[in-house]
Amino acid sequence: MIPFNKPHITGKEFEYIQQAILSRNLSGDGVFTKKCHSFFENKYGFKKALLTTSCTDALEMVAILCNIKPGDEVIAPSYTFVSTVNAFVLRGATIKFIDSEQNTPNIDPSLIEQQITPNTKAIICVHYAGISCNMEALCEIAKKHNLILIEDVAQAIDGYYKEKPLGSFGTFSVFSFHETKNITCGEGGLLVINDEAYIKRAEIIRDKGTNRKSFINGEVDKYGWVDIGSSFLPSELNAAYLFAQLENLDNIQSKRKELWNYYYSKLKSLENNKFIHLPFVPNYSSNAAHSFYIVCNSLNERTQLISHLKTNGITAFFHHISLHNSMYYKEKHDGRNLPMSDYFTNNLVRLPLYFDLKLEEIDFICENIKAFYNK
Ligand SMILES: *Cc1c(COP(=O)(O)O)cnc(C)c1O
Repeated sequence: MIPFNKPHITGKEFEYIQQAILSRNLSGDGVFTKKCHSFFENKYGFKKALLTTSCTDALEMVAILCNIKPGDEVIAPSYTFVSTVNAFVLRGATIKFIDSEQNTPNIDPSLIEQQITPNTKAIICVHYAGISCNMEALCEIAKKHNLILIEDVAQAIDGYYKEKPLGSFGTFSVFSFHETKNITCGEGGLLVINDEAYIKRAEIIRDKGTNRKSFINGEVDKYGWVDIGSSFLPSELNAAYLFAQLENLDNIQSKRKELWNYYYSKLKSLENNKFIHLPFVPNYSSNAAHSFYIVCNSLNERTQLISHLKTNGITAFFHHISLHNSMYYKEKHDGRNLPMSDYFTNNLVRLPLYFDLKLEEIDFICENIKAFYNK
C-alpha cells in the first residue's frame, strides 16, 4: 500500500530531543524554541516569530489580538480547513465566505469588496497546497478598507509571492507543523507578527495572560494576570524536533518540488486530452509543493477514481468540504452560492506526496490513473 503521507525523519531529531531532555528545561521558550524563532526571523525577515502548540492555536491568538467580538465580520475563503475560521467564530464573529478563483482554490480577490461592511474587521487568506494567493490585490483591498490582513500559511511554508516570502504580507501569519505538513513536529504551529505594536500583548496571551516574559526580562519584579490568554507554548521537546526539520528545510522543499514536477510531467497528457485538470501555478507564485492534486470532471468520477486507486494499493484523499455548506455553518451562512468552492469540494483529489516517496511509486500511481481514464 502506498500511504497518503509518511512524516520524514531527517536524522537529527533524536539527538536534539536528547539534548532538550538533558538540558532539564522542557516546558518551552528554551534553547530550541529560540533557535526556531531566529530561524524564521532571519530567513524570511518576519518581525516576530512565536512557536505555538498548533496552527489552530496560533489563529486563536490572532483572534484575541484582533479584539474580535460578537457582531464583527471576518472575510475568509470557504474552501479551506475549519481551523482557518473557527478561532474567529469562537470569539463571536460572523464569517463572510468568499468563493475560490476559477483556476486555483485560493480566495478570489475580485469578490471581496462587495462583502465588506462597517463591521468587517479582517481578511484571512489561505495559500492552498503551497500556491500563493494574489497578494498585491489582497494587500490593496485590506489597505483601502483599513482591515487587518491575516495569512494562513499552514500549507505554504517557504512559498513566495514574486520574490517576497509568504507570511510577510499579513499583519499576522500562521503556520502548521502538523504531521501532514511539509515540516513537522507532530503537532505544532507558529504565529508571525509583522507589526511591532502587537508583539508585547502576543507574548502575554501566549503565556496564560500573564506578564511572565517581562518578569524574565527583568522589566517587572513580579508577574501576574494582566490579560486574557491561554497555554499556547509548545514544549522544548517539540521545538527540538522542529529545529532538526528546519535545518533541512531547503533539502525537503527541493525534494518535494522534484516529486511534484515529476507527477505534473507524467499526468500532462491526461490534461491535454481533457480527462483531468492539473494544478495551476500563477506566474506570481512559487510552488511550495505541499500537495499534488488533480481535478476530476464530476463527483461520481472522483469517487470511482479514489476507489480504483485504493483497489490498486494507492491511498488518495479528497478534502476541504466548503465551509459555507458545512453542517455547523450552513444555517449561519448568508445563502450566497459559491460555485468554485463547491467545484473543488466535489472534484479535487490529492495524491500521495512525501519526502520518501519514490519516482517509481509515482510512475505506478500515474499508470493507474491513466488506466482508469483509458478503460
Ligand atoms: C493544517 C491546517 C490548519 C491547522 O493546522 P494545525 O497545526 O493542525 O492546527 C489550518 N489551516 C490550514 C489551511 C491547514 O491546512
